[in-house]
Amino acid sequence: MRVELLTVGDELLLGDTINGNAAWLGRRLADHGVEVTRSVVVGDETGVIIEAVTAALARADAVITTGGLGPTYDDLTRDALAEAAGVPLVRDPELETRLRERVAAAGREIRDMALRMADVPEGAGLLRNSAGSAPGLRVELPGGVVYALPGVPFEMRTIMDEVVLPELAGPPEVARRTLRTAGVWESVLATRLAEVEAMDGVRLAYLPQPAEVRVRVSATGTDAWDRLADVEKRIRELLGAAVYGVEDETLDRVVHRLLTQRTATVAAAESLTGGLIGAELSAMPGSSSTFAGGVVAYATDLKRRLLDVPGDLLAEHGAVHPDVAAAMAAGVRDRLGATYGVAVTGVAGPEPQDGRPVGTVYIGVAGPGNMRIVTCPKLPVPGAGRETRDVIRRMTVVH
Ligand code: ATP
Ligand code: MG
Repeated sequence: MRVELLTVGDELLLGDTINGNAAWLGRRLADHGVEVTRSVVVGDETGVIIEAVTAALARADAVITTGGLGPTYDDLTRDALAEAAGVPLVRDPELETRLRERVAAAGREIRDMALRMADVPEGAGLLRNSAGSAPGLRVELPGGVVYALPGVPFEMRTIMDEVVLPELAGPPEVARRTLRTAGVWESVLATRLAEVEAMDGVRLAYLPQPAEVRVRVSATGTDAWDRLADVEKRIRELLGAAVYGVEDETLDRVVHRLLTQRTATVAAAESLTGGLIGAELSAMPGSSSTFAGGVVAYATDLKRRLLDVPGDLLAEHGAVHPDVAAAMAAGVRDRLGATYGVAVTGVAGPEPQDGRPVGTVYIGVAGPGNMRIVTCPKLPVPGAGRETRDVIRRMTVVH
């Protein structure tokens, strides 16, 4: 199915109105898998509209026009379509009654000009307009079908979504989007998203990885993409910063992008992850502008010698301690001259260390000045052994 767009109006040619209709239609049709092959703008001139419609249907299966359906004498789309089809304009009795009722309800008397809106090319179908008074038109021409929609964006969109898209793109569409979250356990996400889960026509699927959950959101219905946008907005409100990206935006990309925006760099001091954080921070092409480097200080004494962690701190608490994480972060930031230092120290297992259980992890971040953050993520320990060790190390990287 190939579709061309024809937006009608002198105001578009003159630059008084930005052609938002063409932009919206292009995106909407693409979202529904309908290929738009050309988009043309013409002024309010019957001959030019006829010519443009005829030429478009020589190439494509359907044309969508917007504008020129109103009651004034510069609204010429209906006249042009009748002429192109070789049929007269006939007054639709039902439309006439509805127009008269509307005007009467407003306490006014109808003018002849307004009744023009009840004129349709003989044989044309009417496209229900639940947002305004003039319906759209469906006109069959030898080369294909013309959908003529009003110029007023809100009305155009309504008819498009309610009538035209289901006709062009088939039965109700499913719109999907994957939101990437980090640091929140799947069951916690599900609890926070209970109200979204209960919405009609909305489905959530949770795709967990260590410390990350991708939430695949599906919305169904003819307005699936609008619904999806609303649902996404609500999910972001409910989850806050836990949503770090969408689709294929991986953590390393997002971190690289955020650091680039701040013209900041980061350095990593790693214990239990043994270089995995550095691997992540250097994964993006171009990461030399955001990743300064890393120090793997696995042995306790190296935390003092390479990262300036005070010896008495280590002597008193051992290596797995929040103050040690903070000191490592500040140490690597200063030694490597980065904007931020991030450090991890903890117990990956399978054996406890210094009396601390497997899964105890402290993450320190040192920023400009005295900025220090230390977190202790709750890392669930599903078992013991090699597998657990891998999972804990990966979870630590993500956190
Ligand atoms: P009306 O019944 O209001 O006359 P109509 O179908 O005749 O509707 P136009 O008169 O062409 O449509 O346009 C009505 C209004 O819609 C314009 O004033 C303009 O603000 C807006 N509009 C028209 N075409 C477009 C477009 N391509 N993009 C964005 N806005 C548009
Ligand atoms: Mg008009």
